[in-house]
Amino acid sequence: MSARIIDGKAVAARVRAQVATEVAEFTAQRGGTPPGLATILVGDDAASAVYVGGKQKACAEVGIRGFDHRLPADTSREDLLALVEQLNADPEVSGVLCQLPLPGHLDGVEITNAISAAKDVDGLTIASAGRLALGMPGLRPCTPSGVIELLAEAGTELQGAECVVIGRSNLFGKPMAQLLLQHNATVTICHSRTKDLAATCRGADVLIAAVGVAHLVKGDWVKPGAVVVDVGMNRLDGKLTGDVDFAAASEVASAITPVPGGVGPTTIAFLLRNTLEAARAQAGVA
Ligand code: NAP
Repeated sequence: MSARIIDGKAVAARVRAQVATEVAEFTAQRGGTPPGLATILVGDDAASAVYVGGKQKACAEVGIRGFDHRLPADTSREDLLALVEQLNADPEVSGVLCQLPLPGHLDGVEITNAISAAKDVDGLTIASAGRLALGMPGLRPCTPSGVIELLAEAGTELQGAECVVIGRSNLFGKPMAQLLLQHNATVTICHSRTKDLAATCRGADVLIAAVGVAHLVKGDWVKPGAVVVDVGMNRLDGKLTGDVDFAAASEVASAITPVPGGVGPTTIAFLLRNTLEAARAQAGVA
């Protein structure tokens, strides 16, 4: 068998185009005021600067106004919290995100939690995580939302499906499991202490890997006909590669996401969608 490749770039382009149309409608309804996304970058980490630059560029492309805050690495906790408070109060700012990781003297969890739940477009505050866990409406983390969209694109039936998520981070694994539960999947979460990871993976109709170990998932861990989603982003011999042995897994799976070009592009697309949703909720527009 040779798996169908789930094209994350195409899915992301479709979501972005839809968001652009809806942003134009929203902006016209609001007398020319577009949704706004404020990004905060503390320090000069090169990778973080690339991510933030990509988010700002993506905003501009769909008509969302960007507020790009770059602060020195020695910014104090008090000054950073003051900026978050200022952005929380700014009516032109619909969404706020603080790029992680932060320099060592700052607590990423504390700073993230200072973002108002209404503007939490990364979906990472305690309030957003709680709303997701309780099945209440709210802003969802962008990468798991993107994975749900990719699974829909692949025509994956989630109801009653055995879904295995490798990784239990607050950023991805836990919210991914919650979203799958909301789609009536049967969900198993694996992590570094899981006893027989290979055997657990072999039971999966849908296998989602978010570990950060290149090619951890072997071809013979994949159940024939399974759908495989590779969230991992690793550098191997200077090339970006995933957590799944793509060549071997694609011989067994029915559909699989590539790295690059799979999950990655959908994350920013859902950040844009969340910013629009936040703007709508703040404006009282359905
Ligand atoms: P993380 O916080 O480091 O979590 C990694 C998880 O993998 C942990 O739960 C850890 O278990 C588990 N793990 C580590 N080694 C394992 C092993 N040998 N067997 C089974 N489980 C193992 O990472 P993350 O933030 O969730 O990200 C995971 C990967 O996804 C990274 O490569 C990251 O770059 C990528 N990512 C990509 C996107 C995107 O937009 N494409 C977004 C987010 C993340 P313990 O909890 O027991 O330590």
